Amino acid sequence: SDAGSQKERVVTEEEWLQKWEMGNIGFHKEQGHPLLQKYLDVLLNGRSGLRIFFPLCGKAVEMKWLADMGHSVVGVEVSEQAVREFFSDHSLPYCEEPVPEISGAKMFQSTSGDISLYCCSIYDLSSSIVGKFDGVWDRGALVAVNPCDRQRYASLMINLVEKNSSYLLVTVSYDPNKHKGPPFYVPESEIKSLFG
Ligand code: SAH
Repeated sequence: SDAGSQKERVVTEEEWLQKWEMGNIGFHKEQGHPLLQKYLDVLLNGRSGLRIFFPLCGKAVEMKWLADMGHSVVGVEVSEQAVREFFSDHSLPYCEEPVPEISGAKMFQSTSGDISLYCCSIYDLSSSIVGKFDGVWDRGALVAVNPCDRQRYASLMINLVEKNSSYLLVTVSYDPNKHKGPPFYVPESEIKSLFG
């Protein structure tokens, strides 16, 4: 019982866009994630005014929570629909602009300036474009990355964080032979080898 049957599987960007179009977004939590509330102190570690990164952000309501606490939030999401829904769900005015370094990418920013969402693939980002972060909320992100891209994802994330950063990672324990997802199984041993 390892992740055998999942290892070769790939969810394409097109499939993610379709999920958003069909409203097939069971992963979205209207009420936010209880584990962020529980471990908020670990993320913040007594610090204020942090830069916090949301990889594969969807329209996670936790972005609004953290911005309301005075932090600056940056997310990345391939679905433009998700990004627009985030701002409209919270009635937040925003503006959009191209990202000169990434062809086809757009950056959507709340008018207040504290939430910036990049609409592109995470693999197009680098610290020269988005800077470095003090904290990361990784929920539905590493577990949504195709197994063949995990190493690349982890290296990028390590590159995007400051030395004294906190990285909260949510994974799910289950038997990958019995359940299909959400959407990929990441065993603890693999997390250790990816992030050291
Ligand atoms: N973190 C969010 C969403 C999890 S679902 C939450 O907690 O609700 C994973 C999201 O990643 C989907 O919205 C999907 O559209 C997006 N996504 C998938 N591959 C991506 C990629 N390579 N770059 C950026 N976003 C991606």
